[in-house]
Amino acid sequence: MKPAPFDYLRATSVREAVQALADAAGDGKIIAGGQSLVPVLALRMARPKVLVDINRIPGLSTIVPVDGALRIGALVRHARLVEQTAHPMLAEAARWIGHTAIRSRGTCGGSISHADPAAELPVVAAALGATVHIASLHGTRTSSAADFCTGPLETTLADDEVVTAVDMPLPQRWGFAEFSRRHGDFGLVTVAAAEVGGHWRIAIGGVGGVPLRAEEAEQLLDAGAPPHEVAAAAAAAASPSSDIHASAEYRRAMTEEFVLRALGQEKERVA
Ligand code: FAD
Repeated sequence: MKPAPFDYLRATSVREAVQALADAAGDGKIIAGGQSLVPVLALRMARPKVLVDINRIPGLSTIVPVDGALRIGALVRHARLVEQTAHPMLAEAARWIGHTAIRSRGTCGGSISHADPAAELPVVAAALGATVHIASLHGTRTSSAADFCTGPLETTLADDEVVTAVDMPLPQRWGFAEFSRRHGDFGLVTVAAAEVGGHWRIAIGGVGGVPLRAEEAEQLLDAGAPPHEVAAAAAAAASPSSDIHASAEYRRAMTEEFVLRALGQEKERVA
């Protein structure tokens, strides 16, 4: 199928992009890498009147160290996250996103804004306690990654807001493990565990509408409990649904196994 007709605007600044979104009054959409939006348009699951292309906006493709974190510009491609060496956890997670073609176009801001419950970056952002930077005509605001994601493909982003960057803290220790049927598929279960500021967070993708924080498991990990106890607590916190890819029981069993694997792969920060 082909998309419904739309107007196209190539923004040259964040201000121009948010002005265009405001003018479209709910009928505008940002296009970044297009890897999720274009299929949605082609299937006519969305029919925006205006597409606002942010790819030429200067300053959104940078990776900058800020106060114990890396500030990842909204337009940083997944492939660049794989290549960079300053944040090994992000590099490992981004390696699992789709295939080379998708990683070379898809963006960090696009993945966070699209909020697919099976996507890797929202899970890692939740485990790290990341901060999302958002701009609109009214100014700027920040949101924790956990609050930003409100449901499957749902966020707190208003119609006239754009994500400009995500601050991804550098963990002291971390682990990442994913189970997918074929290389490049979305994960059936994705586990990210990160120790930031002396406390562990465990986030699990694929077992609910948003990345699940396994808080009891986190407390056990902070207290030095053995990995099998932590993994069992994480699996108990998950309430996945059955779908064509896997039953709820299977996903829960995979949650326990992949929390164990993530903790088994626990890596020290490379200073
Ligand atoms: P776009 O497609 O351009 O936009 C997606 C949505 O986000 C749109 O609603 C758009 O309006 C909004 N948006 C984009 N940028 C911003 C912004 N800065 N501010 C506000 N709103 C914005 N992803 C995974 O995580 N894991 C996978 O395994 C995976 N496999 C894939 C396999 C295939 C075959 C395909 C086609 C895609 C796959 N993806 C996967 C999706 C891919 O990672 C996308 O790149 C990503 O989800 C969205 O990024 P994008 O830059 O392409 O966003």
